[in-house]
Amino acid sequence: MPRTPDELLNDIAKLEALVLVKDAALAAKDAELIAAKNGLIHSQLTIATLKAQLAKFRRQQFGQSSERIERVLEQLELALEEAEAGQAESTAPAEAASPSTDQTVPPSAPASEQPEQKQKKRRTLPPQLPRRDVVHAPADVCKTCGGTDLRKVGESVTEILAYIPGRFEVIRHVRPACSCRKCETMVQVPMPDLPIPRGMVDASFLAHVAVAKFCDHLPLYRQAEIYARGSGLEIDRSQLAAQLGHTAWLLRPLGELVADHVMAGRVIHADDTPVPVLAPGAGKTKTGRQWVYLRDERPHGGVAPPAVLYRYTPDRKGEHCRAELANFTGCLHADGYSGFAKLYEIAGASRETLPVHGPPRIAEVACWSHVRRGFFDEFKSSGSPIAKEALDKIGVLFDIERPIAGAPAAHRKGVRQRLAKPRIEQLATWFDDQLQKIPGKSDLAGAIRYARSRWGALTCYLEDGRLEISNNAAENQIRPLALGRKNWLFSGSDAGGQRAALFYTLIRTAVLNRIEPEAWLRDVIGRIGSHPIKRLHELLPWNWAPPATQSVAA
Ligand SMILES: [Zn+2]
Repeated sequence: MPRTPDELLNDIAKLEALVLVKDAALAAKDAELIAAKNGLIHSQLTIATLKAQLAKFRRQQFGQSSERIERVLEQLELALEEAEAGQAESTAPAEAASPSTDQTVPPSAPASEQPEQKQKKRRTLPPQLPRRDVVHAPADVCKTCGGTDLRKVGESVTEILAYIPGRFEVIRHVRPACSCRKCETMVQVPMPDLPIPRGMVDASFLAHVAVAKFCDHLPLYRQAEIYARGSGLEIDRSQLAAQLGHTAWLLRPLGELVADHVMAGRVIHADDTPVPVLAPGAGKTKTGRQWVYLRDERPHGGVAPPAVLYRYTPDRKGEHCRAELANFTGCLHADGYSGFAKLYEIAGASRETLPVHGPPRIAEVACWSHVRRGFFDEFKSSGSPIAKEALDKIGVLFDIERPIAGAPAAHRKGVRQRLAKPRIEQLATWFDDQLQKIPGKSDLAGAIRYARSRWGALTCYLEDGRLEISNNAAENQIRPLALGRKNWLFSGSDAGGQRAALFYTLIRTAVLNRIEPEAWLRDVIGRIGSHPIKRLHELLPWNWAPPATQSVAA
């Protein structure tokens, strides 16, 4: 049917609109690309600057041994490994998407020659390390003509570094290349996927490096020294950093699944701790923040698997925890930090009215350990008998909790109503009486007012058996971070802080589920690249089962 001029004009207008939309989309893509390139150039510059600083300090160090220079060197090494890991993390998607160079042997070339070109860049693994062959034999039927007379014409060997608890091993992936006598078709099994394409290490090595860094607080440059000394391995810090960055990229979706699980709980514990982070440039530090969000229902007989989420932020602004808890509905155990306070205000919920559906609502649960701490400090410094009496009274409340840990929520509530509630009511009266007797500006009065001002949040645990008397559970999860911090090994950068948070989330969640983190990571890193994203939850620690046999199917 011929179009009228009006219709044609209309079509043209539509097309023009379409072109405009496409143009805008294209411009946005360009902007993204430029931003990504700038980011990469920036991180390359950072790495170059750090390397120059490191070299300069090394020269200064020559001939003089100063603790300060040692310290600066350590910091620079750490900053460098974080920058390099960060760069690898950002380039990992492209690397994973690029086609593998691993191909079958062309019929004419002797099999031994072909892999040589691509192995030029590969370093060789130390000859003294034990070797283990894994043979990937091709099917004995030609897929072109169905013939069964195959003749071996060569083989490809790829050496991959593996870590078996306590030692290194080289796995020789041997892939015989066969030719069909009838039609000359070549048959060879492709090389199995590696966690890092064209890397020469397998998941066991990557898991070991991650656990050594984040459980044992061994920075990568130290690990490189240890591996070189112990096994003659020439893997330097840069390589380890690139491997760690790529591993982080692989594992990030799993970390987000843990986050979802934590936030889906109805009772969680939150806490945070300052962490020194190297500021870009002169080796100065700034203070970042690690937050911990714990879901653990075992103390009230819950069946949900325990999980802990760590998040790094460059500062302690309340917006960070509010963003993290944006979809959380339930009771939040936390200290009196004002950043959390706003959450309760916005939500405006009481514990009784928390809805199951609808917008997220949060009710505050305060911590008796924090109350106790105020009196403990006062007692230690002044020996105040009132502080001592307060400590004893609070101690009784903790004593009531011990036998009911792990009991069903209803039972816990019953015991608390019977034993703790009358004592807490007496304690309120006693606190108020003491306030009349002591100077209003004293620390002791401050400790009492701290408790009385959050009385509702302190006593709600009497009415709900799912709640705890303290936030100690969250503090227990913060403690491993403090160890890393003491060793000055925490973070070389904000990105390093985020990477650390991811690995802590995974490692500590595995521990909570009584799974050996390195064994779990070894299996997960090996599988996650080819695991369907929709079934990623199968790899979570509480769904995971150790691989049946670890021998032949490497
Ligand atoms: Zn054939």
